[in-house]
Amino acid sequence: MTNWVVYEQRGPVAWVTMNRPDAANAQTAAMTRAMDEAFRRAVDDDEIKVIVLAGSGKHFSGGHDIGTEQRDIHKDFERIATTWYPHEDKGGAENLFAREQELYLGMCQRWRELPKPMIASVQGACIAGGLMLAWCCDLIVCSDDAVFSDPVVRMGIPGVEYFAHVHELGSRRAREFLYTGARIDSKQAEAWGMVNRVVSRDELVSSTQELAERIAKMPRFALALTKKAINQAENRMGRQDVMDATFGLHHLAHAHNALSSSDHLAGHDAKSMKDD
Ligand code: ZN
Repeated sequence: MTNWVVYEQRGPVAWVTMNRPDAANAQTAAMTRAMDEAFRRAVDDDEIKVIVLAGSGKHFSGGHDIGTEQRDIHKDFERIATTWYPHEDKGGAENLFAREQELYLGMCQRWRELPKPMIASVQGACIAGGLMLAWCCDLIVCSDDAVFSDPVVRMGIPGVEYFAHVHELGSRRAREFLYTGARIDSKQAEAWGMVNRVVSRDELVSSTQELAERIAKMPRFALALTKKAINQAENRMGRQDVMDATFGLHHLAHAHNALSSSDHLAGHDAKSMKDD
């Protein structure tokens, strides 16, 4: 059986590491479920004060699985993030809408609300669906080889399901980021305020742990309340509303692709998305 994620406790910190290094940690539904279980374990454990989300191997995350043999887009899982019904036996636009509401938008919004601070520890590629995972964390530490992009406009889709681009980058930067699909490097991400700190690849784990341990000295309840306060402030600046509204446009694009091309991704797969 695949170990989709590795869970480790290091002092007051839980490390949840995505474990598909050969596929740049491409995210399946099974991996999403495993991540959720790992986060729940960390939340339930009173010894854990901070959660780190990391990826094994060269890359943090190449995004959602759109082409490996373990892709499980048609498989239903117990719904935890939303109260949407199963998608497996549904047709038309309903199928993908129900699936992505639960697994992508719903799950990332649920993780953003976990009552313990989360740090994304990012190396290499953090592409499209990978951005959602980093953005739903409280802090992002990345190595100097990290690159970030959301090229899904090439698929005819206005950005990944978790549309936090404007809040993460600011309006003009979000436009450039999406309209060009270009990669930004770690320095650019830091200059744009999208990551908290950039360190060398060798120092990524130790720097992330050090930051986590520093945060872990604060009282648990105060951290939870502070996190909630900041999430609320972001929501009053429209973060949640923008995401929920844009999800409709995202699915108009999927439906348009399904009507006018070979599939909801306009015939693209991991290989075709690699060609710049
Ligand atoms: Zn989608």
